Amino acid sequence: MSERLPPILIIGGGLAGAFCALKLAPLPVAIIAPAPVGDSGASRWAQGGIAAAVEEGDTPESHAKDTVAAGAGLVDHDIALGMAREARTRVEELAAMGAPFDRTAQGVFAPSREAAHSRHRIVRVKGDSAGRAIMETLRQQVERTPSIERLEGYAAQEIVTQDGRVTGVRVRDDDGNLRFLPCAALVLATGGLGHLYRITTNPLDAKGVGVAMAARAGALIADAEFVQFHPTAIDIDVDPAPLATESLRGEGATIIDRAGHRFLLEIDAAGELAPRDIVARAVFASIRAGRGAFLDARASVGATFPDRFPTVYASCRAAGLDPVVSPIPIAPAAHYHMGGVWTDAQGRTSLKGLWAIGEVASTGVHGANRLASNSLLEAVVFAARAAADIRHAELAAITQPSAPVSGAAAGRSSDDLAIVEELRDLMSANVGVIRDAAGLAGALNELRRLRARASDIEIVNMLTVSTLIAAAAYARRESRGAHFRADHPAPDPAQALRSRLTLEMALRIADEAHP
Ligand SMILES: Cc1cc2nc3c(=O)[nH]c(=O)nc-3n(C[C@H](O)[C@H](O)[C@H](O)COP(=O)(O)OP(=O)(O)OC[C@H]3O[C@@H](n4cnc5c(N)ncnc54)[C@H](O)[C@@H]3O)c2cc1C
Repeated sequence: MSERLPPILIIGGGLAGAFCALKLAPLPVAIIAPAPVGDSGASRWAQGGIAAAVEEGDTPESHAKDTVAAGAGLVDHDIALGMAREARTRVEELAAMGAPFDRTAQGVFAPSREAAHSRHRIVRVKGDSAGRAIMETLRQQVERTPSIERLEGYAAQEIVTQDGRVTGVRVRDDDGNLRFLPCAALVLATGGLGHLYRITTNPLDAKGVGVAMAARAGALIADAEFVQFHPTAIDIDVDPAPLATESLRGEGATIIDRAGHRFLLEIDAAGELAPRDIVARAVFASIRAGRGAFLDARASVGATFPDRFPTVYASCRAAGLDPVVSPIPIAPAAHYHMGGVWTDAQGRTSLKGLWAIGEVASTGVHGANRLASNSLLEAVVFAARAAADIRHAELAAITQPSAPVSGAAAGRSSDDLAIVEELRDLMSANVGVIRDAAGLAGALNELRRLRARASDIEIVNMLTVSTLIAAAAYARRESRGAHFRADHPAPDPAQALRSRLTLEMALRIADEAHP
């Protein structure tokens, strides 16, 4: 690490972090991440693509309308419309950098369609390779940009503030050494938090650390209760869980219990093609009742499975399962966090000197439920906006040097690892697909108990963000979008507002829930 780092630090080397660094060039910045740009994070894993109104006849207004409808009453319409209007420009920028998006013979984008989009609007790469191709393109661009310094092998742990302004960040290297890095502007681009849950589709470092660090530094957190669960992760004891793509259900695969009963038809007339949250709840309830849940593609896909769904087939075969002749065990998996660090339209948080972009942020575009393929779009749109904002911001002078932290925080104990296992079970059981007051109050109490045991700051961060989710879910006494309360199963128009919490408020809710 060089002695003098750039004054702008970006935490996270996924799509949001890398795009922001490129948009800031030639201003000097450093990207801090555990791995080389694009190698860690969910961006590389995106299979669908990036939503943009590029089809002839489609409009940003129509895209915004679908986004608002998916968000179950909580999407900020103006922000969604602004994002939809910028979508084509950002996609064209990615294409100009070299992202090989699918095109027609005439050379125009050839978007495909996904659930709840009224048009063909998903800009893809070779069917299901969008994330990999985009991140490979950005990695090359970042490597070619001399103003971007890359600090690989570092994990951020704590934001340091003075008089309400961010002055730096504490990071840990792969050997456990701690270092204070001063900065004038800090951009959080740390992605999601699926690993707070037992079953998740997210990469290993999606632990919500960005939300926790911001909250501990005093920033506002918005819509923390809204976690989207993918209904059909393959439940074969693999962490993260592979996905059984939604197109299998589109092709006629059914969902059955252990007795072979097709239970979704009793819950929704659309059966397996009902909205994601309805299918996830039905699958969760069947598993919780001990009846299990399986995706049965034997009759609908059968012998053509290996050719038509090679990725899912390979995941099944690796676990000794043959989906041609056997139903696939499934479970809902934590997939995407709609909430996060509250930001304004420029990616600015409530804390001076701190911006948040990508999945770690809550900009208001997703509301209570994310529209498919809007997250890659949100990442690039708000990365560009934050870069423009930082460019014009009056940044404070750096007064402290980069320095090792002496008297380093205690290391991770074997109990810390046990805490993570307990946490993931707790979050899945009580703060997951189906919630109620008793379960949430119990979870808040248990989180307090786990916090008293934890010695490692990364574990404390995981417990902090979990507390924020549980407190927000406890306080929202209604069901809306991805948040379902068995004790308040209907939406309540009086509660159709985004939630905003500080950590202090969340801890107060926890005390009230479980004195
Ligand atoms: C399987 C799967 C498929 C998906 N498909 C799609 C899709 O088709 N379309 C779509 O729009 N969205 C999709 N999503 C969601 C989308 O991929 C993510 O929301 C998006 O990539 C988030 O980008 P990001 O840059 O915010 O975070 P990420 O790409 O997750 O990057 C986060 C970065 O932060 C780093 N980081 C984390 N913690 C720390 C720390 N403490 N210190 C330093 N660095 C840290 C990570 O290592 C990583 O480099 C999918 C998600 C999954 C899991």
